[in-house]
Amino acid sequence: MGAKRPVYLDFCATTPVEPEVADLVMRYMVEDFGNAGSRTHEMGTDAKRALEHARRQVAAAISFEPAEIHFTSGATESNNLALLGLAEYGRDAGKNHIITTAIEHKSVLEPCRFLESQGFSITFVPPASSGAISASAVMDAIRDNTLLATIIHANNETGAVQPIRELIGQLHDRNVLVHTDAAQSFCKLPGQQFLRDADLVSVSGHKIGAPKGIGALAVNRRRQVHLKIRPIMHGGGQEAGLRPGTIPVAAVAGLGLASEIKAARVEATFRKCHEVRDQLVALVEGLGFSIVGSGEALPNCICVDFSPIDAEAIFVALRGRYCVSNGSACTSASRSRSHVLVAMKVHNDSIDSSIRISWDHRVNLDNLTQMIEEIALLR
Ligand code: PMP
Repeated sequence: MGAKRPVYLDFCATTPVEPEVADLVMRYMVEDFGNAGSRTHEMGTDAKRALEHARRQVAAAISFEPAEIHFTSGATESNNLALLGLAEYGRDAGKNHIITTAIEHKSVLEPCRFLESQGFSITFVPPASSGAISASAVMDAIRDNTLLATIIHANNETGAVQPIRELIGQLHDRNVLVHTDAAQSFCKLPGQQFLRDADLVSVSGHKIGAPKGIGALAVNRRRQVHLKIRPIMHGGGQEAGLRPGTIPVAAVAGLGLASEIKAARVEATFRKCHEVRDQLVALVEGLGFSIVGSGEALPNCICVDFSPIDAEAIFVALRGRYCVSNGSACTSASRSRSHVLVAMKVHNDSIDSSIRISWDHRVNLDNLTQMIEEIALLR
């Protein structure tokens, strides 16, 4: 018997693979392991069939057409492909201005900074102290040469849901393309079908019970504008020429099944997670701590300011028993202050006392309550 596992409360960082997804992934690794590019035998054509089935499953979750889904290694790659892939199209059209926000994931911020070094100009719209980006601030940033607005759907540190739904139509009316990083919101928010009207949507498998290393970029081909995206790698022409490389059929099948399962259960999961969130907020505030951010948010995540307790002291106290984090897993190793909380103008002391707690519908509220009460004793 291994040691008892800690209570995992870091679902925004990653999620466990769902058992039925793991079974399917195993099947496509061990038994039906053909290369979807092999046209000369049934092992290949079976793999291709599995690939196209998964494409339909992912597409259905956000009401895209299957042919509009391009599998990638995850949301990081999808974001890079969306942004870097559009650069030439933008240059050719004389549009080299991009609007983004100060609270994007690094996989959007860094390609934006790269494009800046290549002659693009980038507007980083700041959030309000609630963590929300105002739609009017985005609209006010539009210039004659604005190519694209890339705006995170739900922030990975505060859970704040951004006004993508209202922005898509407004931005399109001004001839601005819309990309959204939906890594945290995909299959978590009911009514996500409106995303079908965005031009580009990035999703990630490991946030929804599929394996790590698989994701997708949805590219809207239903609009009049003919979006020309260039691949960022060159090779065998897979994924409609956008993403070369032998397709990891097992992981793709896993992403497909996870999307179908999570999309089918999204309302029930949302309700359950939201109940937990409401109870947690009441508990935390009742103990005299505060929530970082306000307004519409993911149902399965909160960022708590445990001032005056230092976050590092909390991690030490909880080590081995509870898994929580200080925001993005991608940057938590660096221990620099969260650019998201800095942009929200959260006081440095509060940033240093803030912790992200995230869960799924199976969470045991008693565990959460116990953990919060234990943290309170550190005061
Ligand atoms: N965007 C957001 C909002 C995320 O939370 C993450 C994962 N931390 C990513 C992008 C990157 O996704 P992936 O791990 O699939 O590359």
